[in-house]
Amino acid sequence: MPTFRFDLCELPPVAEALRREVRGFLGAELTARPPAQRARSWGGWDREFSRKMGARGWIGMTWPTRYGGHERSALERYVVLEEMLAAGAPVSAHWIADRQSGPLLLRFGSEAQRQRFLPAIARGELAFAIGMSEPDSGSDLASIRTRAERVAGGYTVNGTKVWTSNAHRADYMIALFRTHHDPAKKHEGLTQFLVDPKSPGITISPILDLRGSHHFNMVVFEDAFVPDELRVGEEGAGWKQVSTELAFERSGPERYLSSLALILELIREAGKAPGERAAAALGHLVAHLATLRQMSLSVAGMLEAGQNPNLEAAVVKDVGTTFEQEVPEAVHALLGVEPTIETGSDFQQTLGYLTQNAPSFSLRGGTREILRGIIARGLGLR
Ligand SMILES: Cc1cc2nc3c(=O)[nH]c(=O)nc-3n(C[C@H](O)[C@H](O)[C@H](O)COP(=O)(O)OP(=O)(O)OC[C@H]3O[C@@H](n4cnc5c(N)ncnc54)[C@H](O)[C@@H]3O)c2cc1C
Repeated sequence: MPTFRFDLCELPPVAEALRREVRGFLGAELTARPPAQRARSWGGWDREFSRKMGARGWIGMTWPTRYGGHERSALERYVVLEEMLAAGAPVSAHWIADRQSGPLLLRFGSEAQRQRFLPAIARGELAFAIGMSEPDSGSDLASIRTRAERVAGGYTVNGTKVWTSNAHRADYMIALFRTHHDPAKKHEGLTQFLVDPKSPGITISPILDLRGSHHFNMVVFEDAFVPDELRVGEEGAGWKQVSTELAFERSGPERYLSSLALILELIREAGKAPGERAAAALGHLVAHLATLRQMSLSVAGMLEAGQNPNLEAAVVKDVGTTFEQEVPEAVHALLGVEPTIETGSDFQQTLGYLTQNAPSFSLRGGTREILRGIIARGLGLR
């Protein structure tokens, strides 16, 4: 029977040296950032911060230098991501581009697209959005209905994307459209495109989340034109490409660190001599965290070795998001502190933010049930 493997991965000295450099930078940059802001982690948007990261060579780290990358290892990149997340750095303006849009273009884009987009992404100047989900297509992504029809010089697009994070402030979106329709073969006839969200025929409307914040959008295409040179890969190759993109999306340490700010606040609150219950609860959380970190690092090690750890990445995302969601519950049960929004102590506000946000952790990037389906298939159980 197939199984998954999490080989132990040691970080090389060069990665630990880089960690010190990153910590020094973050210490200077984020001194005034309160814990409830840090809890936003990769949801925090700051273009200036992204440019500074780019200037330091910390975006597109593993890409070839001819495309503005730095040819560093996946493990060095892992350390930078880990430090950014642990510090709650506002990385959202480059996160998607660095994690999935850039790697997608590197693998499937044309040479002209690589030269045009990758160096600007690596400088921290281009923000990307993901145009996959639609009003009736989320988990069943292959059922999307937004049509891109061939016209002279490109395609005309009609349809609606939904839950599109940051579409209102991104420079580009990589979107999946249907270029051919055969109801019997829904995984065929899908194609990916680079879309400028400010183009004519595209209307972006906010969808407010549970907290009343604007980060999601609905994006309506009405006879929007996308030129041929912005098609990514071959027409009809979209399913294979989007599956690769989702593997990039699911494999990073952001899938277990979203509630770290609250654990740090709990440690601060418990002080140097925590009571027996607090010590037991903290021990439980930290033991889980350490195990998840080792598993996540193992995925990074497999990526570095050129392997394809999709199954292991799905396990880390499933177990990791369960852990992230457990943290606010555990803290609330332990201390009975009331979560608050924009008032109250740092601790209450961090708890308030994460309590409201936690339900989304096991939805974004593929739901828990979908991941378990992937794991079951990987183990030969279905
Ligand atoms: C914070 C956040 C950010 C997001 N950002 C983006 C973005 O930038 N771009 C984008 O395109 N999308 C984005 N999404 C959308 C996300 O990808 C979808 O919400 C997700 O894929 C689920 O789709 P859905 O909401 O349509 O739910 P559905 O697919 O309708 O699922 C509803 C429920 O049914 C379950 N279910 C569905 N199918 C099965 C099955 N076969 N077996 C068992 N259970 C099943 C699901 O697990 C879920 O619990 C974001 C979502 C969140 C929460």
